Amino acid sequence: MNSVYLPLLRDQLARLKAAGAEYADVRFHDYDESESLFFLQGELRGCEQNSKFGIGVRVLADGAWGFASASSLNDLDGTFQRALRSAKEAAKCLERPIRLAPRDVLCNVRFKSPCKVDPFDIPLSEKIEFFKSVDAKLQKDFVKQRFLSYESEHRQIHFLDTEGSYGVRDIVDIFAGMRVVGLDVDGLSQERTYNLTLDPRGTRGWELLQDPKCFLNHAERIVNELESVLSAPVCPKDVRSVILKPGIMFLQTHEVVGHALELDRILGYELSFAGGSFVRLEDFGTLRYGSDKMNVAADATLPNSPGSFGFDDDGVPCQNVTLIKNGILQSALTSRQTITEANEKAGMIIFEKSGASNRATDFTRAPIERMTNINILPGTDGTLEDIVKSTKKGIIMDGDRSWSIGSNREQFHFACEIGWLVEDGAIKGIVRNPTYSSPTLPFWRSMSAVGNASTCELVQVANCGKGLPSQVMRLGHLVPVCRFDNVQIGL
Ligand SMILES: [Zn+2]
Repeated sequence: MNSVYLPLLRDQLARLKAAGAEYADVRFHDYDESESLFFLQGELRGCEQNSKFGIGVRVLADGAWGFASASSLNDLDGTFQRALRSAKEAAKCLERPIRLAPRDVLCNVRFKSPCKVDPFDIPLSEKIEFFKSVDAKLQKDFVKQRFLSYESEHRQIHFLDTEGSYGVRDIVDIFAGMRVVGLDVDGLSQERTYNLTLDPRGTRGWELLQDPKCFLNHAERIVNELESVLSAPVCPKDVRSVILKPGIMFLQTHEVVGHALELDRILGYELSFAGGSFVRLEDFGTLRYGSDKMNVAADATLPNSPGSFGFDDDGVPCQNVTLIKNGILQSALTSRQTITEANEKAGMIIFEKSGASNRATDFTRAPIERMTNINILPGTDGTLEDIVKSTKKGIIMDGDRSWSIGSNREQFHFACEIGWLVEDGAIKGIVRNPTYSSPTLPFWRSMSAVGNASTCELVQVANCGKGLPSQVMRLGHLVPVCRFDNVQIGL
């Protein structure tokens, strides 16, 4: 598609090189469609459909980055030269020159995300009809508000650089969520939600939403759970074992493992916006992040996830990177730029090569370190039932309702949608307003059970925010049921 432009882009890259650029790349979105729908009480209240087309050019010259983007290819010369000029201007106030770690040239790599039915081939009327059928399952007297949301994207992105790389990604993403809200016995609102989850080895086109077990069949469950929560006693203030289902375990992993291990954040680049990290460069290879049972990977090679994308915006192929092994911190989310800076600052080689985490939200933004699929590896402690049986005094929690995280990710407080108390190895009933909080490291070090692969779910994150100007990114978390001991709950 539009390959007629590729020689023109190559020619512009060669001109930048001839004008003194150390490196340059261009991302060309020649097909970029997105659609979002929002339903309240079964009625369509929001519908947005966007088409984009354009390029983002990044230039490294005199040790500094320059960037320019355009939604037209009419003035390629102007766009590429603007990026070069901005690099030369930035170089005047540079503290230390940027250097990129070496990597192999990307040789004609083609990546396509697994999809059977392109959501953009389905008429809007059919989508509305589908969501109305889901809404019908949510209608009960005690359900005061019913929300349904849908987002999809289909993009084709070409990547070229001055080192001779070429790759193209064809990516389809689909997200959907349902939320029911009711009033509890004290007149306060309670809610249950369900978001479309993925089979990591399946596909994620329109067919995924059509499969009842992936979306529709969860409507009845969340309505029933909401009904139980409305009249349930309030979660006690206590110190207990906390058993997290994937519907909250993904956020626990996202906020205080994923974000804490972004190398740009560790180097201080996000301080003015999204915050820093308690992790220091000297911690790699030595810090006990969690118990022996804690194993974490940044796995961008999962076949079917928005956190898998073939190669990143540095042109580095996706990888499966071990972040934490048996509780000990091993690595971070990295790019060509940050590993060089981190190794120089540490005075030693911490990172051998980029882990391919550099991604931009679209062609109008320069890439920064983003999560891929930050997964907790399954353990040997069996099913949820097995974990409950071995728990003397605990609480199971599910559904993220609100969260508050320390600016360096050193502590957190999560409120969940539903809790089930556990006493002497058995579930003793539902509670409302369950919350838990802890300093980060003591929490992960208290990890005492990790469920097997059958407890794992691949939870999609459609709205991870970072960067200035802001960039919203899509990714995934494949996480099992996990238990943590001696945790403060109910505050
Ligand atoms: Zn995030």
